[in-house]
Amino acid sequence: MTTTDAAETTTTADEIVAEAAGGSAPANDGPSFTLELTQDQKDIREWVHGFAEGVVRPAAEEWDEREETPWPVIQEAAKIGLYSFEALGQFWADETGLTLPIANEELFWGDAGIGMAIMGTSLAVAAIFGQGTPEQMGEWIPQCFGSADDPKVAAFCASEPDAGSDVSAIRTSAKYDEAADEWVINGQKAWATNGGIADVHVVIASVDRELGSRGHAAFVIPPGTKGCEQGAKVKKHGLRASHTADVHLDECRVPGACLLGGKEKLDERLARVREGKRSKSQAAMQTFEASRPTVGAQALGIARAAYEYALEYAKERRQFGKAIIENQAIAFTLADMKLEIDAARLLVWRAAWMGRTGQKFENAEGSMSKLKAGEVAVWATERAIQILGGNGYTREYPVERMHRDAKIYTIFEGTSEIQRLVISRSISGVHVK
Ligand SMILES: Cc1cc2nc3c(=O)[nH]c(=O)nc-3n(C[C@H](O)[C@H](O)[C@H](O)COP(=O)(O)OP(=O)(O)OC[C@H]3O[C@@H](n4cnc5c(N)ncnc54)[C@H](O)[C@@H]3O)c2cc1C
Repeated sequence: MTTTDAAETTTTADEIVAEAAGGSAPANDGPSFTLELTQDQKDIREWVHGFAEGVVRPAAEEWDEREETPWPVIQEAAKIGLYSFEALGQFWADETGLTLPIANEELFWGDAGIGMAIMGTSLAVAAIFGQGTPEQMGEWIPQCFGSADDPKVAAFCASEPDAGSDVSAIRTSAKYDEAADEWVINGQKAWATNGGIADVHVVIASVDRELGSRGHAAFVIPPGTKGCEQGAKVKKHGLRASHTADVHLDECRVPGACLLGGKEKLDERLARVREGKRSKSQAAMQTFEASRPTVGAQALGIARAAYEYALEYAKERRQFGKAIIENQAIAFTLADMKLEIDAARLLVWRAAWMGRTGQKFENAEGSMSKLKAGEVAVWATERAIQILGGNGYTREYPVERMHRDAKIYTIFEGTSEIQRLVISRSISGVHVK
């Protein structure tokens, strides 16, 4: 897709909000599953691939070494409309659900650190989209992106130093000051992507500690709010072009209207929980569940990049008088890499399709897709290093960076162990611990 095509086919912010307000996923009588991509899907794939190849890849090494947010690349993405609410809305609007994972796979094929610098905002956007009222979506989502000339980023802050896998342990509190119609938020968030450098922060806080994760709510912290400060910036193993930091919330006051979904809805939900009825949603878990196949697609992009690099290298590199791919040990490894990547993609596409068409995740298919893709990415990038031998271990070749980047995919958005916990509980009905 050319820039002009993209501009012509993008949905406007108002249309996206209107669609969200009007209804959610299409009904079961929507388009049936097919592995044949539509022309639109192919065009978007080509468009994102072109950007990944032409702009992201050449910048990957530099920003990994600098360990800084690649603002010039984000700006390039904003200029062609790729970093925007409209593009994200267009990806999401695809009724088959496949465009979002396809676009993510291509971007992260370019580079995962820069990919996350561009896509990190979407976690906050997903929270606002999933839990906000149409008015809140209209107000806050465009601010998450800023403009093409002056792009901004957003952060989603759930994790805390003592609450990672166990979201129910969140200590950040939100207390309602009725007289001022304001929420007062106190606590410390950890490992937040874009934490502190974001214009819009979405923070998960507890409004009733006794209710555990069912007492959580999501709040928008508007740009420049007093009491919301960046803490320590984290130095990382991989994904180093993506900023990760603690966020301190100290007597941070936000207007009542910043509670996503509104107070009436929250009060109803809390009343249901206190009566012992099941709550329909748990703020943080809902956001994570919706984003798992997309995260899996990012891991797939890294795995595919490493596989392609190793394949070409194996055809060129000669030892013992022949190309190393002529050895079964190398060729079979590459065959297995391709096999595992394609298998993971099918799981990712299935989960994305199920989520978008409103199918019930009876066997935690979203978690399955993220688990498989994350583990394949770690394995395939490690195999790529092996195929490149000594070169693979050096920073002169990209596969070691890909391996460092891949590792986070078995950790964030639910570790592999937590995905297995979710899947085992789903398939068994037993509360496996
Ligand atoms: C680069 C990066 C970016 C991140 N971005 C964000 C972000 O934008 N927003 C955000 O909110 N968070 C973010 N996180 C946090 C991330 O989601 C957490 O690190 C992750 O959920 C794991 O939590 P933890 O680190 O506390 O590990 P822990 O929960 O302490 O887990 C440690 C180990 O114990 C295992 N374990 C824990 N409980 C069980 C169990 N019941 N059964 C079996 N094994 C178990 C885990 O699987 C893991 O292997 C980010 C983290 C990183 C590193």
